[in-house]
Amino acid sequence: MRNVYLDNAATTALAPAVLEQMLPYLTEVYGNPSSVHAYGRRAKQGIDLAREQVAAALGCETGEVIFTGCGTESDNTALLGVAERYKSKGRHIITTNVEHHAVLHTCAYLEKQGYEVTYLPVDAEGLITPEQVRSAIRSDTILVSVMFANNEVGTIMPIPEIAAVCHEKDVLFHTDAVQAVGHVPVRVREMGIDLLSLSAHKFHGPKGVGALYCRKGLRLPPHSMGGAQEQGRRAGTENTAGIVGLGAAIELACSHIEQNSAKMIELRDRLMRGIETIPEVKLNGHPTKRLPNNVNYSIKYIEGESILLMLDLNGVAASSGSACTSGSLDPSHVLLAMGLPHEIAHGSVRLTLSDDTTQEDIDYTLDVLRATADRLRNMSPIYPGK
Ligand code: PLP
Repeated sequence: MRNVYLDNAATTALAPAVLEQMLPYLTEVYGNPSSVHAYGRRAKQGIDLAREQVAAALGCETGEVIFTGCGTESDNTALLGVAERYKSKGRHIITTNVEHHAVLHTCAYLEKQGYEVTYLPVDAEGLITPEQVRSAIRSDTILVSVMFANNEVGTIMPIPEIAAVCHEKDVLFHTDAVQAVGHVPVRVREMGIDLLSLSAHKFHGPKGVGALYCRKGLRLPPHSMGGAQEQGRRAGTENTAGIVGLGAAIELACSHIEQNSAKMIELRDRLMRGIETIPEVKLNGHPTKRLPNNVNYSIKYIEGESILLMLDLNGVAASSGSACTSGSLDPSHVLLAMGLPHEIAHGSVRLTLSDDTTQEDIDYTLDVLRATADRLRNMSPIYPGK
């Protein structure tokens, strides 16, 4: 049996070259980066280099990069920070109904604190338009937060166009780019982004470390209070090895982004063509405006959970929604927001590739998936094609 890991939207394997860069910071370079002595200075050099690597990858200045504990923390810091800082200007926030829970639950919390949140509805392919944003902006709107690419269906939002509307209306724009960075080009300055969240473990970096890009001049209250780390914007002794790993991983991913994405698109399309030969399947997400590594289909008349178990028994790791919610049997909020009926949303399977994925992996997965669909449909009382 072959082992094929196709759950790279949940997390990716740490790249060996990244681990190599991190190792000294887990062993001999153990100084506290805030200490003035040589031990501390060496640790700080590692963080400084990582900050340069992130700034180069995003097209911003080093002073605009805040290291955080994860993508979730970056999202929380952006939303809660803007809400607190600009509450005298207004208490209205705009987002979409397909965001990750790191954004949606933070918005729900803010609603309890007296803020008003508009959740823009997506179309059947998971997109919102800049016009929707324009007509939702009010005089008391302080923030628009729209994800760069969706973690479940891979749809890529029209970010520069949405950012342009926000600027025209003088409203801050945040994007959760956790699934996009390292996979598609993300340039904050050129795209007009004010705040951006990213997470290292989605592009072959370590888990438990992220970053928030915060445009120069925007001063948000700190996420945590204590020491003066991250220029007073995030207290707590830095995860030096993690930050070094994030820097190495973003440099690695972004230096080969065109080649990697071309290779992944080829394999992704091969997988999609193969799945389309199974009767009664439905592509979820946009056919072309989608992440190079994301494939998401509903296989009608069978349950996503059963498909996952059968795939797993055959060595294929996939997902039927976001990793955080796959413990629950509720259909994905993203698929429901795109208008899928419950029974079709339940039959969804997400397969996400990485640059380690091979053509043999794809062909093996297709064989397993076809056999799985046949077997489950033969047992299904509702499948009409028997
Ligand atoms: N935002 C999106 C779009 C994600 O896909 C994820 C993780 O799946 C997160 C935020 C949270 O990132 P982290 O796992 O680093 O907290």
